[in-house]
Amino acid sequence: MTAADIRSRGEGRLADARDRLVKLEASAPREPHALLRAVDELQLVLWNVASEVSVLMNVHPDVAAREVCEAIQRESTTLSVRVAQSRPIYDALSAVDRTALDGPARRAVELTLMDMRRAGVALDEERRKRAQELRARITRLSQDYGRNIRDDVRTVELPASALDGLPADYRAAHPVGANGAVKVTTDPPDHGPLMTYSRDKAARLALARAYYDRAPANVSIFDQLRAARHDLAVTLGYPDFAAYNLEDKMMATPENVDRFLDDVRAAARAPADRQYAALLEIAKRDDPAATEIGSWDIQYHLARAKDERFRFDPREVRPYLEYRSVRQAILDLASELFGLTFTRIDPEETWHESVEHFSVTMDGKPAGFISLDMHPRPGKNKWFTSFGYRLGLKGRQLPHNVLVCNFPDPSASRGPALMEHQQVVTFFHEFGHLVHGIVRGNAVEWARLGRPAENDFMEAPSRFLEDYIFELDVLRRFAKHVETGAPIPEDLVKRVQAARDFGRGVTVEQSASLSRQSLKLHQGDPRARDARSLAREWAEREQRFTQLDGSNWPVNWEHMGNEAYSAAYATYLWSDCIAADIRTGFANGLMDRAAARRYRDLVLAPGGNIPAADAVAAFLGRPYDTRAFKERLAKSG
Ligand SMILES: [Zn+2]
Repeated sequence: MTAADIRSRGEGRLADARDRLVKLEASAPREPHALLRAVDELQLVLWNVASEVSVLMNVHPDVAAREVCEAIQRESTTLSVRVAQSRPIYDALSAVDRTALDGPARRAVELTLMDMRRAGVALDEERRKRAQELRARITRLSQDYGRNIRDDVRTVELPASALDGLPADYRAAHPVGANGAVKVTTDPPDHGPLMTYSRDKAARLALARAYYDRAPANVSIFDQLRAARHDLAVTLGYPDFAAYNLEDKMMATPENVDRFLDDVRAAARAPADRQYAALLEIAKRDDPAATEIGSWDIQYHLARAKDERFRFDPREVRPYLEYRSVRQAILDLASELFGLTFTRIDPEETWHESVEHFSVTMDGKPAGFISLDMHPRPGKNKWFTSFGYRLGLKGRQLPHNVLVCNFPDPSASRGPALMEHQQVVTFFHEFGHLVHGIVRGNAVEWARLGRPAENDFMEAPSRFLEDYIFELDVLRRFAKHVETGAPIPEDLVKRVQAARDFGRGVTVEQSASLSRQSLKLHQGDPRARDARSLAREWAEREQRFTQLDGSNWPVNWEHMGNEAYSAAYATYLWSDCIAADIRTGFANGLMDRAAARRYRDLVLAPGGNIPAADAVAAFLGRPYDTRAFKERLAKSG
């Protein structure tokens, strides 16, 4: 798939969308269903353009192709705003007799009208134009923001002592050079293990510095982005961007987010006190004068505490977690639980030879496609994400979802590509997004309902799927020692399970602090405070761990470039609460297939057809609440 292919297809679709818009504005169908269908078709065409380029922009190895994607994305944003601001379409949809429509159709109309108001359709001409300009500016700045992070991989030279404590396969992949130094990059397969295991405190600090120094150009870009977001919100009649951004979510208002975070912090306090004391005791053993722990050093100290308390050493698990067998295990699990099967295919077009593509069936019927782009390479997104490449709509088009991750690469490593247990948790997490996309993409009819209306529900199916990798039943199926072929010992799995939740107090506090930073970065007029000092102030107010001074945080924080998470990083904790309650619906254990099918059909399949809270209530037989989340937190050591 070349830059020219992407351009011609994108431009063709944009031209199609423009034609449809002109026709709709000139003569909108009078019959409600036909009108909704025409509006929805237009939205689908725009969605297809935007979703394809937003994936390729993050993964295409050719810089020219990535630039074409950015250009097409800018055009599609402009056209989407133009459609959302169309007064003739808004008036026609508003006039629809909604009592003549079924539930999902009525909801599609209502949500589309809400989107149009949020795009400024009801404003006067001058402010509509201003909103268009600001949207275009926001798109451009978000592109710059993401590109600056993607393109900035740092390599740090560290003394050989940096490898003390690292697993053998990692040491083999990082030979000591003639100058006595080892080279470690800020890419996740390098960065994660070193920050977790290296006994060299100075080496951990040096790598953390490099990591949080990335994307210096974003210092200015992010403040411009925050200002543009604020101006857009004010133009649309909101007090600030946080109020605008949260309005269409379950969380709904900044006040609710603050209250929610206060509540979560209160629940985390006692376990976090105990856990922090345990971590500090470990730090003092290394250095009797230690009085504090750096926020970059949490993983290292947690790993040691888990080792001492539960005899859980993640390095002991690594030889059982070879990338390819993990991948197959996840596909098999999805088949057993959710009735999905995956068949490897070689499609005519792909963006890189390392990407694996599969066709999917559900209950034996064709159900779409997935692509797994799982290993780091230059110019590729540095995070772990699931993208909708093509939206699935029942009877209209099959879903195609893509995982973009940065796991160890079997074809690039000198030995087997062993994964950290935590990386496997992430794999399950991202796969949860993918299963959700496929399942709802075969049940939902309207493009507007192709994903849950409330984005803060989006992490719940993924958080829920994470729990599976701690099940003996699951691990026993595939986790075999890479050298001996012996299955993972039951005793080791018990220790993995015992250690799982230890530290949740401090990690939940950490996540609540990030959530608060994300909110405060988008409240009030951002011109009053630069992002770095504001984030730091809130981190110091709410975190017990010492902050890294002089770093570029938060401008290398991927989520801040993504509008869905911008003021709403609390999405993760919000979804965690829902996921913990969903778990209570599996009274007979996670491998209960009947419960898994009910979960698939009642929670995943509805997509945006009904409010997310209603879907969860249908599964649980009651409204969800935060009790299960808090109980687990209280028991976390
Ligand atoms: Zn996620």
